[in-house]
Amino acid sequence: MGSNGNQKDHAIELSTYCSLKKIADANFDYEDSKYIIFGVPFDYTSSFRRGSSRGPAEVRRSYDNLESYDVAYDIDFTEVPICDIGDIFVNEDPDETVDSVSEVVSIIRKDNKIPVMIGGEHSITGGSIRNFRDYGMIIIDAHSDFRFSYMGHKNNHACATRRSLEVLGEGKIFSFGTRSTSREEFEDPEFRKVKFVRAEEIKKHGIEKEFEQYFPKISHHIYFSIDMDGIDPSYAPGVGTPEPYGLTDTDVRYLIRKTAKITDGFDVVEFTPDFDNGNTSMLAAKLIQDFIGARETKRIF
Ligand code: MN
Ligand code: MN
Repeated sequence: MGSNGNQKDHAIELSTYCSLKKIADANFDYEDSKYIIFGVPFDYTSSFRRGSSRGPAEVRRSYDNLESYDVAYDIDFTEVPICDIGDIFVNEDPDETVDSVSEVVSIIRKDNKIPVMIGGEHSITGGSIRNFRDYGMIIIDAHSDFRFSYMGHKNNHACATRRSLEVLGEGKIFSFGTRSTSREEFEDPEFRKVKFVRAEEIKKHGIEKEFEQYFPKISHHIYFSIDMDGIDPSYAPGVGTPEPYGLTDTDVRYLIRKTAKITDGFDVVEFTPDFDNGNTSMLAAKLIQDFIGARETKRIF
């Protein structure tokens, strides 16, 4: 960690980007924390059903209903140094918003802390990932998100994986749950530089087998990005662009548990409250707890 004086300055600098709202269990000051939670209420480029900008507030509300103790991890989350710095101020410019995300994550990373970002739409991952250049990446997503640009924006949510590839390079990104891609994306030679693990293959062989097949290649430190639409709409109906035949909630939990110890950045995006029955926000909140629990626990998963 950097010196405490520096970190106090950073806490003040971060507060100029953010409003104040806290998730339950976030009881520590910025300086003393290891996990820094923040929201990005941005959905300007969402193509089908908008409203993920209200995601961060709703995930915090659902999180209030979770027990602070989790028996699976034997962790009391109120004792884990977690700080919630609130929501980043956003406008309707995707490039500026993604730059702000990049700035915020850069400050958090300089202090050797772990950013936990709540979206908002998937384009924001493109800002966060700029601070993880030597990393591998796991993405959960129904969509390949591999367009070079979409509706006039390079920082569109349909381009999240493409932007990540530009930062990390070939063979570093593993996207689980793919079941929707355009012909244009599929026929792009760059497409083979990302390993898209199709939802159908995971259903056929089981998540354990699919993960073990790729894990040797992703066993360096990683960034973990969850687009909630990667999960089947029966578990997670509240998303902007739902897609049938998806992953189960426990498929995703399995991947989190297996990789949490080597994960230094995490996000949950695309949750859209207007279309939810309450399940998606609870699951998003629980996935955040699962990440922190699996990273902190002494138990082996
Ligand atoms: Mn996505
Ligand atoms: Mn998606």
